[in-house]
Amino acid sequence: MLFRRSAPSVPGARSKSGPHHAPSRIEKVSYDLVVIGSGPGGYSAAIRAGQYGLKTALVEKQPRLGGTCLLVGCIPTKSLLQTADVWERFVHSEAEGIHCENPSLDYPKVKERKDGIVSKHSKGVEFLLKRAKVERISGYATLRGGGKIEVKSDSGAQTIEAKNIILATGSEARMLPGLEPDPNFILTNIEILNLTAVPKSLIIIGAGAVGVEFASIFKRFGTDVTVIEMLPRIVPVEDEDISKELERLFRKQKIRVETGARAENIQKTGSGVKVSLTTKEGKQETLEAEKLLVAVGRKPNTENIGLENTRVQTDRGFIVTDAHQRTAEPGVYAIGDVVAGTPQLAHVATREGMIAVAHIAGKPATPINKNRIPGCTYTEPGIGSVGLTEAQARAAGRKVKVGRFPFAGDSRATILGRHDGFIKVVADEAYGEILGVHIIGPEAFELIGEAVAAMEAEATVEVMMQTIHAHPTLYEAMGEAFNAVYGLSINA
Ligand SMILES: Cc1cc2nc3c(=O)[nH]c(=O)nc-3n(C[C@H](O)[C@H](O)[C@H](O)COP(=O)(O)OP(=O)(O)OC[C@H]3O[C@@H](n4cnc5c(N)ncnc54)[C@H](O)[C@@H]3O)c2cc1C
Repeated sequence: MLFRRSAPSVPGARSKSGPHHAPSRIEKVSYDLVVIGSGPGGYSAAIRAGQYGLKTALVEKQPRLGGTCLLVGCIPTKSLLQTADVWERFVHSEAEGIHCENPSLDYPKVKERKDGIVSKHSKGVEFLLKRAKVERISGYATLRGGGKIEVKSDSGAQTIEAKNIILATGSEARMLPGLEPDPNFILTNIEILNLTAVPKSLIIIGAGAVGVEFASIFKRFGTDVTVIEMLPRIVPVEDEDISKELERLFRKQKIRVETGARAENIQKTGSGVKVSLTTKEGKQETLEAEKLLVAVGRKPNTENIGLENTRVQTDRGFIVTDAHQRTAEPGVYAIGDVVAGTPQLAHVATREGMIAVAHIAGKPATPINKNRIPGCTYTEPGIGSVGLTEAQARAAGRKVKVGRFPFAGDSRATILGRHDGFIKVVADEAYGEILGVHIIGPEAFELIGEAVAAMEAEATVEVMMQTIHAHPTLYEAMGEAFNAVYGLSINA
């Protein structure tokens, strides 16, 4: 049951208690579910709850819906990457016999296109929520315990109550100690997406998915890019061979990569930034650039949401849940980037939302299998992976057989002029169980879909060897990589 204090509904009307903005009456509303946060986890969960007939409200503190993914993450970055692909083709079109005289890049227009895509989809989320009869409540939500949620906005505060709550408050960029983001020099994913011109030079600290994607975007737009990573390799969650290949190809593209390196003493110079770099060999150097991007990971938004008023347990700030996404507080679930132990990815947030809502509605749902979560990094070439890396499979005591097929042996890749990279299959020697598939190459983020479906259906390497792959396609390389597990690939 919800008790809402609402302002007078007629503009300019005076409340019974006086002429000020004091609440005038208490309204009774009841919710089966209140979702906090409108990212891919929250909005999908709210829509599914509406489809199941649950009386649902969604609270969002931002004026626009869609969360990190839609507003400042997956979608705007991929829009820029698409333009970077097109631009690169123009610049290198000579090889295909196309002469483009003096092509020029209109970056404000590139940004406008990206912003248009974001707005269109944010409005789309609004429409879908309305259609599912989800009530939207604007404001900042704080748990008050016992199913109560306080929502504060410019128009005042209200306390709502729900039988179930889903926490989908997402994450934000971690900063380095002593640094504050600003729109001009020290950037996070938010500020860099708002740039109105291509920077001449950019230092990126952190070579996870976010860091390398921005490196790939801006290098192709003509920026001089340096990537600094503290760990021994870039994209450190990927199979080691994938990291090595991306590093090799980044260097070929003239992106400077410093792994095992330290960036310290970051200072603004007035016209840019200055960083002290210590390389893995111990060499000291001062780097200067027009901008600096901090991409050192994402911290969960679990502070100041009232967890202390509940029994919700956290682990280094992330919320601990069971396989149904339940927290230790009855009726309170958590999904997406705030959850401990699952990767911070949009499709993970969405799936966890489906699992939580199914549990609330008493419907069947299969808990997440962490070995079947695809991970995609939209660099050039791209990365798509699922399951165990070779090192993880060996560490788990599996007898491993590896198949590897280079895109150089795939005719479609040559036609596209994109034959860098390979597909690597990690299989169990005994029965040909597919343990992991790791792709770096053209459209890797699309190709990985076949491997995810194969693993979900528990297909063996033999089944995939017998699967007919159309010719000439990029996904033929997948068939060949499965053949390679038994040394039977034809084209390499
Ligand atoms: C640059 C970048 C690129 C990315 N690219 C990809 C990609 O290609 N593929 C992919 O899978 N993932 C990608 N990600 C990760 C992806 O964006 C996140 O995993 C995803 O957005 C998590 O969804 P979520 O629903 O958990 O939270 P979020 O999307 O972070 O949404 C949380 C929402 O909750 C709201 N909120 C927070 N606290 C409160 C409160 N107290 N009251 C009311 N509202 C609140 C926030 O305003 C926000 O709208 C990328 C991330 C970044 C930064």
